[in-house]
Amino acid sequence: MANVTFPRVGVIGGGQLARMLAPAAEALGIRFSVLAETADAPATQVINEVSVGDYTDFATLKAFAETVDVVTFDHEHVPPEHLQALAEAGHVVRPGPQALIFAQDKILMRRRMDELGLPNPAWAEITSRTDVESFAQRVGFPFILKTPRGGYDGKGVRVIDSIDEAVTWLDEVGQLLAEEKVDFTRELAVMVGRSPMGQTAVWPVVETWQQNGVCKEAIAPAPGLAAGKSREITEAILKVAGALDVTGVMAMELFETADGFLINEFAMRPHNTGHWTQDGAVTSQFEQHLRAVLDLPLGSPAAREDVSVMVNILGADHDDLYHPYLHVMAHDPAVKVHLYGKGVRPGRKVGHVNAYGRDADLVLARARHAADFIAGIDINPHPQMPAPADLDANTTPSADDSAGTAATSSDERA
Ligand code: ADP
Repeated sequence: MANVTFPRVGVIGGGQLARMLAPAAEALGIRFSVLAETADAPATQVINEVSVGDYTDFATLKAFAETVDVVTFDHEHVPPEHLQALAEAGHVVRPGPQALIFAQDKILMRRRMDELGLPNPAWAEITSRTDVESFAQRVGFPFILKTPRGGYDGKGVRVIDSIDEAVTWLDEVGQLLAEEKVDFTRELAVMVGRSPMGQTAVWPVVETWQQNGVCKEAIAPAPGLAAGKSREITEAILKVAGALDVTGVMAMELFETADGFLINEFAMRPHNTGHWTQDGAVTSQFEQHLRAVLDLPLGSPAAREDVSVMVNILGADHDDLYHPYLHVMAHDPAVKVHLYGKGVRPGRKVGHVNAYGRDADLVLARARHAADFIAGIDINPHPQMPAPADLDANTTPSADDSAGTAATSSDERA
């Protein structure tokens, strides 16, 4: 007989994050449904319980919420007033609207981080030419402007070189967030799972690399990160998660600077910088999100491997992913390929590769090779690839670093 006592989680949004929650729900025996934007969204291809509807329409959200025990999200774009109304109507919404608003609105987030005494870049809310002028006077050019709401993957982020450029954009959108252009040494990210009972579990801090504003790579743990800094970052995310009463998983993106770190932004859902946990941690971010929103005891966030690397497969000009993927599997049987069932468009995230082992440079080279080969990107040279001489010294894989052959040159593309 079917066990009907297990709760049902409903995810708003049918993208790749909802899709990757599905196997975790299946393994936990959790019932799972999705409100997808379109009938062919990535999650709809693998989940039976799908409603298709508009997440900006309250009646649609309410009807979906009626069918599940807990509502959660694959993106931040549900209107805050609708989330509030759902919570007031007695639906369990996790994370709750009082927390999610800080992932939805970057100005509210900056203000709250200042109140919590956490390290922010210099920032200002911009609603007039005078605001632009005084911010420019304070930090100089270039500085950064962002739309406070609705941005993702660098859409809604611009580097500003003149007052007029800023004012032209302001006239179009009405309100902007200005930030100093941080001279970071690298970008980092950290994730926590937090349940309503207040249990927390933090994964190791990762180093991330963005290409044109899109996360391209994450390395766990962040190579060479000082233990003291890692502890301060962990304390910062725990402080935020507790102060905002976050439930579910949350990502904090950071800029590492010469003397510390500054907070960039949050996501309160599974996040690209946590995909490495699928193959590299005892508990994946997807499993943890479900455990956390259901107030189940959390799983261990410990890394299974010395080094895990995630590299995104970003669409290039080939829409055939299948043939290169055969090559990648044969070439390196130890890499794990995750595809999202999406059509290929240039720069679009269509999947990712996870690789793991002992030597960070070698694991990175293997993951990059696999991801870029599948995308059809010219795999050599890579902007961050070790110089060929360094690679040569490393091309003999240890038993731990590759079950198959070594990282190779682009000649094997043929
Ligand atoms: P999104 O919400 O679209 O992901 P982010 O605010 O994370 O946008 O910005 C995208 C990328 O732009 C960041 O990962 C970083 O590389 C760069 N960036 C954003 N803010 C700043 C800043 N204040 N200084 C320097 N670089 C920044």
